[in-house]
Amino acid sequence: MYRTNTCGELRTTHCGQEVTLAGWVQRVRDLGAMSFIDLRDRYGITQLVADEKTAEEVKKQVAQLGREFVIQAKGMVRERTSKNKNIPTGEIEVELTGLKVLNASLVPPFTIQDDTDGGDDLRMKYRYLDLRRPAVQQNLFLRARMAQVARNYLSGQGFTEVETPVMIKSTPEGARDFVVPSRMNPGEFYALPQSPQMFKQLLMVAGFDKYFQIVKCFRDEDLRADRQPEFTQIDCEMSFVEQEDVLNTFEGLTRHMLKEIHQMDTEPFPRMPYSDAMDFYGSDKPDIRFGMQLHDLTGQVKGKGFPVFDTAEYIGGICAEGCGEYTRKQLDELTAWVKRPQIGAGGLVNIKINPDGSVKSSIEKYFTAEELKPLTVSFGAKGGDLILILSGDKVKTQVALGLLRLEMANRLGLRPKNSFKPLWVVDFPLLEWNEEANRWSAMHHPFTSPKPEDIPMLDTDPGNVRANAYDLVINGVEIGGGSVRIFESGLQARMFKVLGFTPEQAEFQFGFLMNAFKYGAPPHAGIAFGFDRLVSLFAGLDSIRDVIAFPKNNSGRDVMNDSPSPISAEQLDELNLVVNIRQKK
Ligand code: ASP
Repeated sequence: MYRTNTCGELRTTHCGQEVTLAGWVQRVRDLGAMSFIDLRDRYGITQLVADEKTAEEVKKQVAQLGREFVIQAKGMVRERTSKNKNIPTGEIEVELTGLKVLNASLVPPFTIQDDTDGGDDLRMKYRYLDLRRPAVQQNLFLRARMAQVARNYLSGQGFTEVETPVMIKSTPEGARDFVVPSRMNPGEFYALPQSPQMFKQLLMVAGFDKYFQIVKCFRDEDLRADRQPEFTQIDCEMSFVEQEDVLNTFEGLTRHMLKEIHQMDTEPFPRMPYSDAMDFYGSDKPDIRFGMQLHDLTGQVKGKGFPVFDTAEYIGGICAEGCGEYTRKQLDELTAWVKRPQIGAGGLVNIKINPDGSVKSSIEKYFTAEELKPLTVSFGAKGGDLILILSGDKVKTQVALGLLRLEMANRLGLRPKNSFKPLWVVDFPLLEWNEEANRWSAMHHPFTSPKPEDIPMLDTDPGNVRANAYDLVINGVEIGGGSVRIFESGLQARMFKVLGFTPEQAEFQFGFLMNAFKYGAPPHAGIAFGFDRLVSLFAGLDSIRDVIAFPKNNSGRDVMNDSPSPISAEQLDELNLVVNIRQKK
């Protein structure tokens, strides 16, 4: 037996017991007459001591220990004279009677503790050491618990977990596919699924009624902090349901998770149409932990002689409470911030409301104080507040204001990580114009049903057709989305036409689905939650990488095993890829 107890287990009630522990040497403090060793395992840290009473051969072993050595230690539990209130085992220590080095260790490239000295790159290269850090382990324990809670909940609601294939047909709609060459079918490729979308719909045709899967998905996209080329979804589909049934079921799941993990009760989630989200928050994923809503000022300020406003399609603003004291320098800095390419505003107009209610503005040349006052009223602004105004193209300006709103909220500390404010964004547009391809694209995916009352507009005014599509948003993070599906092959064919597919292309890519729909497809709808995002949100982290055991970096590389990597000429040859690659060079 390697151990009788773990390093997180012993308390004063164990005093006088002989125990054997095993773990990693966190650190050794040699005080001459006495040596202290912090022994760490997954469960905690226990202090081991060697003193004048300790046998010489044990002391000799202690002397050769280094950081991260794996040892087995035998000894007697005793109460500490100076207790450490910061750790659960801080009242006891183990007086060593035996010590065996199970494995030595090289000096690790960074310290294995919560506040490590390892930079990001080093930590990723030695991810297995990074994963020894308790804080990182906690994230993965949380992840495992959340997966368990989700599984139990959905199983309890009658959902069946079904595995769908990982090697599928390439259907490049949405992101780019990762492809896998087929050795046995020269010149042909599988794709890795961007989601199990079509399979879960086929499971509905097959009568499974309620499906879920906690499943890896793959998208060959440009990466950001909240994106990984492979990521995990809680993927679901239900038959004989309407939008409302899906929202209720997954609101139930989310509330259950908040309760189980954070012991939090949540109010029913508000539902916000996409158009309101854009008008009032400048975002399709509004953070509603705070107000600071956008106000449309176009009607009030356009045509008053200020050229910047007069030529703008839209003029809007936000009111940052208590920021009226901002100095010239701070305002200049904020102006530079909105002019960055990521925000893309041309400039920033400000109105300060002085404590006595008078106003001071950067557009005084064009607007008198009397003209500006009514503006401050529409924001409900009071003395000491600051109104910030952007103008230009409508959607672009709303989005820029939305980002400015988040920035101001960050500065004002209005986005606490321990508060969770979920909402449903509903009534998304069905289509969005794809400039590059010069055609309409599905905003969600091509299987999303238009609102029945909007179907007649499909041919006349496609941009204004709304979808039965919905997103769950928590704290400004899109946690998941889904839709009611098209289940009649006729409407699906019409949708493919709007999306610019010829009947032949539609048949080649989606023929099997359309065919299946001819055999009695039930009405169905579904949703998928981004599991990595959900876990990182619950953990109060900013990056999903911290909740993934072996993540990839911003270039999609695993720096630990150095992939992707070239493959041998023989492999290429076998896969019939040699010719293609040579030709490209
Ligand atoms: N397949 C969709 C996605 O991955 C989710 C859904 O519509 O159920 O975003």
